[in-house]
Amino acid sequence: MICPFCRHDDSRVVDSRPAEEGTLIRRRRECTSCSRRFTTSETSVLLIIKRSGATEPFSREKVIAGVRKACQGRPINDDDFALLAQRVEEALRADGQAEVEAHEVGMAILAPLRELDEVAYLRYASVYRNFTSLEDFEGEIALLRAAPSRSNQQETAAPAVAANNAQQ
Ligand SMILES: [Zn+2]
Repeated sequence: MICPFCRHDDSRVVDSRPAEEGTLIRRRRECTSCSRRFTTSETSVLLIIKRSGATEPFSREKVIAGVRKACQGRPINDDDFALLAQRVEEALRADGQAEVEAHEVGMAILAPLRELDEVAYLRYASVYRNFTSLEDFEGEIALLRAAPSRSNQQETAAPAVAANNAQQ
């Protein structure tokens, strides 16, 4: 690891501690030349295998970019997006694989997006799962009605929110 201050190519580790529930290691290093200290972080790389066969590192930003269009006009803020992307990464890492196919990322988005916003979920699912007819939407909506997501139940329990939605 090259020292960011003097470009010397050797440093020693003075401290090392796990972060983010053990999925990340932070190391405090000291340059053996200028003695200045800097921090590095180490995480296992989760590789996404694209349809072309090429791989690229998983990116939470790309997850957010991928769902943003489906979320247009919905009451979803940056924290919601960040949490969604975090949940997607956790779900993918929970499988314990170092590499996942791109379509698995899309699949991992469905559950947390549904929890977040059912309209955005329907929009996303219609594109992602290639809905081609009204019947496809009807089938999905029937499934949503049969097992409402947590966010929907919360809205039912909060009349103020429900009234707000009705006005829109
Ligand atoms: Zn240095």
